[in-house]
Amino acid sequence: MQRYIYELFLKKSFDEEKLLYLLNNHYKYSNYLFEKSNLLQHKYYGNKIFVRGLIEFTNYCKNNCFYCGIRKDNNNLTRYRLCKDEILFCCNEGFNAGIRSFVLQGGEDLSYTVDEIADIVRVIKSAHPGVAITLSFGEHDKKAYKTWFDSGADRYLLRHESANFYHYRMLHPKSMSFKNRMRCLLNLKEIGYQVGTGFMVGSPYQTYENIVEDLKFIYKFKPHMVGIGPYIPHNDTPFKMMEQGSLQLTFILIAIIRLMLPETLIPATTAVASLSKNSIYNAVLAGANVIMPNITPMEVKKQYSIYNNKFYTKMNIREYLLFLKNRMDKIGYKLAFERGDSKMKN
Ligand code: SAH
Repeated sequence: MQRYIYELFLKKSFDEEKLLYLLNNHYKYSNYLFEKSNLLQHKYYGNKIFVRGLIEFTNYCKNNCFYCGIRKDNNNLTRYRLCKDEILFCCNEGFNAGIRSFVLQGGEDLSYTVDEIADIVRVIKSAHPGVAITLSFGEHDKKAYKTWFDSGADRYLLRHESANFYHYRMLHPKSMSFKNRMRCLLNLKEIGYQVGTGFMVGSPYQTYENIVEDLKFIYKFKPHMVGIGPYIPHNDTPFKMMEQGSLQLTFILIAIIRLMLPETLIPATTAVASLSKNSIYNAVLAGANVIMPNITPMEVKKQYSIYNNKFYTKMNIREYLLFLKNRMDKIGYKLAFERGDSKMKN
C-alpha cells in the first residue's frame, strides 16, 4: 500500500480498488500519507497559507437541500441579505487588514439580478484593483456566469456534493439536478474561471465507494481548488438525526487530494474548524493551504447557519489574523496576503 501511495505521489496512477482499500484502512497509513502530502504542499506552494476573506452575503435560498440549514423551508431562521455598500464595507475592512482575495458566498437568492451582482464585482474591483474575487452562490446559467466573469470575477466555488447520481439524489430534492450541477461546473471552466469543487465527508448515505467516485471525478475534472469538510447535522433540516462526518477521514482525504492533484488549492474549511479547536492546523499539516476567515458583519454572521455550532469568533479581523499568524508560525507556516492564484492549469 505504501508503494501505491508513493505512486500516487509520483502522479502515475488512479486505482479505484487500491483507493478503496486505503480508505478502509486509512488509520494504518495516515502518517505516511501526511508525510508525502506535506512534501508536495511545500514543493508547489512552500509554507504559504493563502488568506481569503469570506463574506456570507445572503442566507436566502430558493433550494431545499436536505442537509443545509439555510434551506428554503427552514422557518426558524432570520433571513438577511447585504446590499452593495455593506459588501463593499466588508471588503474595505478586509483590505485594510491586508486581505487581497475575497469570497462572496450565499444561498441561491433570486432577489439579486445578474446585473446587480456584476455591479458588485465591478465596484469591489475598482475600489481595490488587483484583488481576486471568488463567487459561490450555486447554479446559474452560462450567460450569468459569463457576465460576472467579464465584470471581473476570477473564481467560482461550486461543490459537486456527490459524483454519484443516486447519492446526489438522496441529498437533494427532485427539483435539483445532478446533470445541471455538472453542466455548471463545465460551463465555469469553459468561461475561464478558476473553479473550485468538493463534497462533504460523511454526508448521509455516503459510502467509501462514493468517496472513490468523488476522488475520480476530481482527478479527471482537475479543479483549481477543492473544498471538503465533514458533514455536520443541522437541527432544522430533514437530516437532523444523521451522523456527523469524521474529521480524521477529512484529513486523510485532504492528503489524498494533495497527492492526486498537487497544484490544487485546498482550504481548511469552516466545517473543519467548527468541530475542534486545533483542527484547522491539522488540516494544514495534512496538505491544506488556504484559510478563509469570515469577514461577514458580526450582526448577521450567526444567521448564516448551514450546520449546528458553526465556528465563529468574536475577534475582529485584525485580531483574528494576528492570532492565526502566531498559530501558523508555531507549526512552520506563514499567512500569505496575496491573490494566491492556483498553479493548476486550465
Ligand atoms: N449555495 C451555495 C453555497 C452553499 S454553502 C452553493 O450551492 O454552492 C457551501 C457548502 O457548505 C455547500 O456546498 C455544502 O457542501 C456545505 N454544507 C452545507 N450544509 C452542510 C452541513 N450540514 N454540513 C457540512 N457542510 C455543509
